[in-house]
Amino acid sequence: MALLRVSAVTKVYGPLKALDGIDLTVEAGTFHGLIGPNGSGKSTLLKAIAGAHLPTTGSILFDDTDITAMPPYQRARNGLSLKFQITAVLTELSVYDNVLLALQSAEGYGALLRSRSRQRLDAEVMQALERFRLADRADDLAGELSHGEQQWLEIAMALAPRPKLLLLDEPTGGMSPEERRVTGELLTPIKQDCALVIVEHDLDFIKNICDRLTVLDQGRVLGTGTVAEIEGDARVQEIYTRR
Ligand code: ADP
Ligand code: MG
Repeated sequence: MALLRVSAVTKVYGPLKALDGIDLTVEAGTFHGLIGPNGSGKSTLLKAIAGAHLPTTGSILFDDTDITAMPPYQRARNGLSLKFQITAVLTELSVYDNVLLALQSAEGYGALLRSRSRQRLDAEVMQALERFRLADRADDLAGELSHGEQQWLEIAMALAPRPKLLLLDEPTGGMSPEERRVTGELLTPIKQDCALVIVEHDLDFIKNICDRLTVLDQGRVLGTGTVAEIEGDARVQEIYTRR
């Protein structure tokens, strides 16, 4: 049984069909890359999966539940986590408090208070930060982090509630090649407990970490398969040389 099954999803913005009959299947324990030219619908698809924008038609099954019309907070409680394309940490709060807030918004304040001791919670926040090399920055303001570190903080925030599926929209945008390499290194071990759907422009990055790729073009799936299958697909090469 697939962890995520997107079937015939369409999203219409006025006269524009941003998504035009998308099918996408993601198995548990896999990293799935979404690629395609600007405006091909990658961010819209992630938003439809996370519930930020509802699809116009079609259905989305997640972990055996139909989540097509479920509000985002409920999807989060079911194990879905999204990092948007635009960096959004609270710069006036500490790095630590950003993660605590992410946990609270994913689980709800009451549930968070009742579910574990302060000590346990503290250990969880610190563990989330350690995974992204931010433990020694816990007391700094998030605004004092570099752009790349803020992206890592956001990934740590998305992973803190231990989702079953993480959705990342261009997490290495604006990073140096070295930060990008480290990001790949830090993401790889999460596969043990979380599947990933990731949008990235950097093809080398995505080929290195993903098991499968889906190529979008003008709101449609142009191809889906293993990295080797997609690399050998002439239509995919065509859209990448068209730009
Ligand atoms: P990508 O992430 O692949 O670059 P997007 O999913 O952001 O593409 O956009 C797909 C298409 O939908 C684009 O033509 C974009 O202009 C349009 N679009 C995205 N969001 C909106 C919106 N909120 N309102 C109107 N059009 C939108
Ligand atoms: Mg986008």
